[in-house]
Amino acid sequence: MSEFAIIHDFFAAKRLKRPDVSVGIGDDAAIVKPLPGHELAITADTLIAGVHFPTTTPPYDIGYKSLAVNLSDLAAMGAAPAWVTLALTLPHAESDWLRGFCEGFFALANKHQVELIGGDLTKGPLSITVQAMGYTKPQQAILRSSAKPDHLIYVTGTLGDAALALRYLQEKISLPESIQQKILFRLNRPEPRVKAGIELRSIASAAIDISDGLAADLGHILEQSNVGAILHVDQLPIAQALIQTLIPEDAIQLALTGGDDYELCFTVPEDKKFQLEQRLSAINCRFSCIGEITEKKV
Ligand code: ADP
Ligand code: MG
Repeated sequence: MSEFAIIHDFFAAKRLKRPDVSVGIGDDAAIVKPLPGHELAITADTLIAGVHFPTTTPPYDIGYKSLAVNLSDLAAMGAAPAWVTLALTLPHAESDWLRGFCEGFFALANKHQVELIGGDLTKGPLSITVQAMGYTKPQQAILRSSAKPDHLIYVTGTLGDAALALRYLQEKISLPESIQQKILFRLNRPEPRVKAGIELRSIASAAIDISDGLAADLGHILEQSNVGAILHVDQLPIAQALIQTLIPEDAIQLALTGGDDYELCFTVPEDKKFQLEQRLSAINCRFSCIGEITEKKV
């Protein structure tokens, strides 16, 4: 298949079209016309086979996840995703692989009304770079740098499933069959917390998505906000699969340090606690208060 045919058949033909795109796939560059009064959040992430996902990962999951990790970064800013570009490096152009990849990619893109507006296609070891762009409003983006002492620390969802799945795939642990599929799904199909991120605008003082583990990612908020924190380990929303399969100390350890969950960790001033609880409950997003911000420890 020619490069042109691949771009046309697999990418251009499959994308949904947004009214704020003047020129999409097909020219030297895309042209977008952002809505007046908004700002744009822009992010990119690369996934490399064998480094960011096991080489045995199904193409659907690779397509899904390469977009999901980027939408998760936008969610952590409180941004609403709009456009993406895709730079794909493939060892061979196999139709079956491309079909699976596109199904996963576009399932998530369509769910969030994201338009693929361009990209690149090259030959080489499998690697996927997605750049995502989304809307925020002036003063509304949620930064890592604005957490203050006494703000409460929260996390969405549950922690540790993805890390448990990775250990299982690396044959470091064995797992009962009943939970294998469920945790592999959490590793390969993380649900970016886009709606929650938007609800957190004007409520959260700081936010980050958990890609490297709660301890490391909360650490980035603390460092950039120049504050400390007290974590209540007994309040961590440890995933059920960890509680079922690991001794308590290991379950806590994995929930604190395991990556790839793509939940949001965020801080909220005490006086916005009620509003937060109402907003996240209204969208059925699970959340847990896990600690407080303190003055920086010396
Ligand atoms: P150029 O050589 O001018 O960079 P290309 O031939 O690489 O252009 O790409 C042609 C068009 O197809 C461009 O609009 C580009 O953005 C788009 N495109 C290329 N690869 C992809 C891809 N993987 N997904 C979506 N669009 C792509
Ligand atoms: Mg060109």
